[in-house]
Amino acid sequence: MFLLINIFALLLTQSLTTASELDSKPRQLEFDYKAPDKWKDKFSSCGGSNQSPVNLDFKKFREVVDPQKLQFHHYDNVPKKMIIVNNGHTRKKKLKKIILILYFIILVELRGQWPDNEIPFISGGPLQSQYIFKQLHFHWGINNQEGSEHTIHGKSFPLEMHLVHYKKDYDSFNNALNHTDGISVVAVFFDIQPDGSEGITDVLKNASNLVNPNTEVNLEPFALSNFDGVFTAPKYASYYGSLTTPPCTEAVTWIFPVSVLDVSKYQMKTLRCINFKHEDFHNYRPAQKLNDRIIYLFKQPPD
Ligand SMILES: [Zn+2]
Repeated sequence: MFLLINIFALLLTQSLTTASELDSKPRQLEFDYKAPDKWKDKFSSCGGSNQSPVNLDFKKFREVVDPQKLQFHHYDNVPKKMIIVNNGHTRKKKLKKIILILYFIILVELRGQWPDNEIPFISGGPLQSQYIFKQLHFHWGINNQEGSEHTIHGKSFPLEMHLVHYKKDYDSFNNALNHTDGISVVAVFFDIQPDGSEGITDVLKNASNLVNPNTEVNLEPFALSNFDGVFTAPKYASYYGSLTTPPCTEAVTWIFPVSVLDVSKYQMKTLRCINFKHEDFHNYRPAQKLNDRIIYLFKQPPD
């Protein structure tokens, strides 16, 4: 029942308000991408020293052998229902932000058939506990030369996906935000290829129905493992950072599987059509200072 209440609250919130990246307290979080360097004036954490995104410079990585293999559990499970939400604008229409959020829902009548312990989660690697999947969403820009939040050697990718998880010990996503180890986001870059990866193709099948903000459509359910390559990468990078949207809470263990997925030019155009009314649209925060943080490159131990 707890989970069902939680889901209901989440969807209700989504239908009424603009969401932050992680929709923690969306009603208070109005911001835009015209001057993200000003976010700290309203949200003090955005001026912190452990902010995300950052530039990932391989030359500065510290290589370590993973003491405990990073594992993705239940990502092959096909949920009973999936919806995709365009939660783009405030009611005042001041916000130039659209984030596509993919929720995965367990219906009331199927709870017995799909117990809580089959929800996808990650463990191992830099994580000291299980982190439960919450939602995924995307960041992109106005052309294929920009869009990702993190960069590699200063290079941007046209699309970056965030798979958001919260620490199981904290029981809920919102509670996890109050802890420095509360959240883990698996981030994945996409680059242009003739054909898109299976997962992004699955997501965008109904994207044309999402042009208007505050709309949602059902997706034909698919397993998150359709984002092939994410879950089998032999290496991944990790660092400690923050949410990339206000309130910029510093609570995130970022994980980057060393694998780039494919997205087609047509698919990127489809994404951009969602907000075609806004010429300056994008939803990525620029790279923040790394300061004294270390980016670790984990090599997965042999099975
Ligand atoms: Zn994000």
